[in-house]
Amino acid sequence: MHMTAYQDDITGSTTETSPSGPSVAIIGAGMSGLSAANSLRAAGAHVRLFEKSRGPGGRMATRRTDGSTFDHGAQYFTARHPRFVSRVAGWIDDGIVSEWNGSIGVFESGSLRDSTGATKRFVGQPRMSALTRYLSDGLDISFNTRISSINRASSGTWRLHDDTGQKHGDFQFVLSSLPPDQASRLVGDNSDLAGRISNVRMKPCWALMVAFDKRVEVNYDGIFVGDDSSISWLARNSSKPGRGDVDSWVIHASAEWSDHHLEDEKSLIQDVLLTGFKKIVGQAALTPMYSAVHRWRYALAENPLNHGVLWDGTGTIGLIGDWTNGSRVEGAFLSGESAALQLIEGIPS
Ligand SMILES: Cc1cc2nc3c(=O)[nH]c(=O)nc-3n(C[C@H](O)[C@H](O)[C@H](O)COP(=O)(O)OP(=O)(O)OC[C@H]3O[C@@H](n4cnc5c(N)ncnc54)[C@H](O)[C@@H]3O)c2cc1C
Repeated sequence: MHMTAYQDDITGSTTETSPSGPSVAIIGAGMSGLSAANSLRAAGAHVRLFEKSRGPGGRMATRRTDGSTFDHGAQYFTARHPRFVSRVAGWIDDGIVSEWNGSIGVFESGSLRDSTGATKRFVGQPRMSALTRYLSDGLDISFNTRISSINRASSGTWRLHDDTGQKHGDFQFVLSSLPPDQASRLVGDNSDLAGRISNVRMKPCWALMVAFDKRVEVNYDGIFVGDDSSISWLARNSSKPGRGDVDSWVIHASAEWSDHHLEDEKSLIQDVLLTGFKKIVGQAALTPMYSAVHRWRYALAENPLNHGVLWDGTGTIGLIGDWTNGSRVEGAFLSGESAALQLIEGIPS
């Protein structure tokens, strides 16, 4: 766990050394939290992030094994808003993002057809998590720190508590990038936010990762699946830039199927998704040399909001994340950036 002088403020034993702007706690170091943190830092705020995992990135995750990598969360991202388009261009110049020119197909009514189109798809290079690692450079992040509650001090500032009982604070502002259920629980007693987000539902996704010692001969690198009851998408991960030569694939189960099989044994999930994969690529005899599954309990919002950021009545707690802003990587980035801009320039009433 990373400790800073700020953490000890609560005991009065040390003082914070360099805050020139407002002090802001950000819960979660995924794309939205990192985006907010970078914009706030650039504007002179004192920012500290708290992340329950041992590294940054959240759902922009990559699993590494001997010889292969698997982007088992976000597959690629698109860029439509001018601010995000220009940010992506900068990341490409810095060599941390590349366009993925994989050929894209659709599997429907038992056959494959081309669907490549004009959409530009971007990926972190040499793996998806490289981008969030890059964005976390120089930020003050406490890893392995799961925030379990927040409460207001008599001075009006916020104190955070982690699940070991450790207190962190004080902060003038808190930004939470947690999924809606957890965000509700966190802010429940402190604001009216819980009621405003109670309808937002996150859908789960089971992900299968498989690698083969010989190339799987199929014409497409990414396949949207229209009519299979278990699978919604598969991608030849190794077709993305910098991923190496081992033929590696990520297969995502559909939200409905994942929901239905959320608590099933991993071995069963693995069997069903592998069988579905073989059917789609038309090769019944394939045997992977590596196979693993991962369960995303909160993968994508079924009914995301379009607020950018949601502030509580005091304008000191903000909820950010893909689900507050149309979903997906771009939405998450813009949500964090909006929160930072509004916090610096004044929160609209
Ligand atoms: C299977 C899957 C496929 C996807 N495919 C695509 C795609 O192709 N294109 C696309 O654009 N998007 C895709 N997405 C969505 C994309 O990954 C997200 O929109 C984006 O990464 C969300 O970023 P975020 O910061 O809002 O949330 P997250 O990445 O979830 O970040 C939240 C962070 O908060 C941390 N956290 C949670 N609770 C606590 C706590 N109590 N205390 C401290 N830290 C906590 C988490 O560990 C996490 O790091 C996909 C997601 C999944 C799961």
